[in-house]
Amino acid sequence: MNAPDSPASLPDPITGALPLGPASAKALLLNVIEQSLHRLVVFDLDSTLLNNRPRSAAIMREFAVQVNQPMLAMATPEHFPTWSARNSMALLGMADTAIDQILDEHLDFWTPRFFSSLYCQHDVTIAGAVKFVTAIQAAGGIVHYLTGRDENMREGTQASLESLGFPSPAHSDVRLIMKPVASDSDDAYKRNELQKISIAGNLLAAFDNEPTHINNYRSVFPDSLSVHLDTDHSMREVRLLDGIISIKDFDH
Ligand SMILES: [Mg+2]
Repeated sequence: MNAPDSPASLPDPITGALPLGPASAKALLLNVIEQSLHRLVVFDLDSTLLNNRPRSAAIMREFAVQVNQPMLAMATPEHFPTWSARNSMALLGMADTAIDQILDEHLDFWTPRFFSSLYCQHDVTIAGAVKFVTAIQAAGGIVHYLTGRDENMREGTQASLESLGFPSPAHSDVRLIMKPVASDSDDAYKRNELQKISIAGNLLAAFDNEPTHINNYRSVFPDSLSVHLDTDHSMREVRLLDGIISIKDFDH
């Protein structure tokens, strides 16, 4: 991928992403805003508009009490550069053997909390995201949030979006599309939703951090803009398709 003012010298070894530099990213985002009148713009939430690291850090601090590991009580968002709890515990200074003993227990502790409405309140925004999504709406664009979160998390998700200043899903033109059941596959659910968007037509641009998902947008909507957020991903060995643009955030 050609990114002339890219801040990164080398592409991501897994995804191949080489994000645009600030000037190119700004030009791209302003262009989307300018074209958005009556057009649909779709946003993923986690690691696209929202940074979930404070959520995982808060859960780790609670877990520290359960397993009596003061080291883990020091967890901050910076200890969660990836979705690997092992990596986060190592960054907090735990030895591999100690991590092995509590890793399964952490997953059992983390899962029901992370995928709950209550803990959504810990999320913060990806830089520039509120300003960008608000500008799309103000320019007459149609905002849809298409997330892998399930319906169980609707209340907390809506409250979080509203408190952070994003266009509210309570607004008649804004939709929050959620997975019906937590156990459904994220990939199959998003593919299915993309077919519905395809039938409706009108997609200007889609933003998603997960290579599998943004690749699907690119395949189904070759004439729309598919933008990858180079934040983090599920660590699957999936490379971005040609024609997908990467950005680090929404600063513009
Ligand atoms: Mg995501």
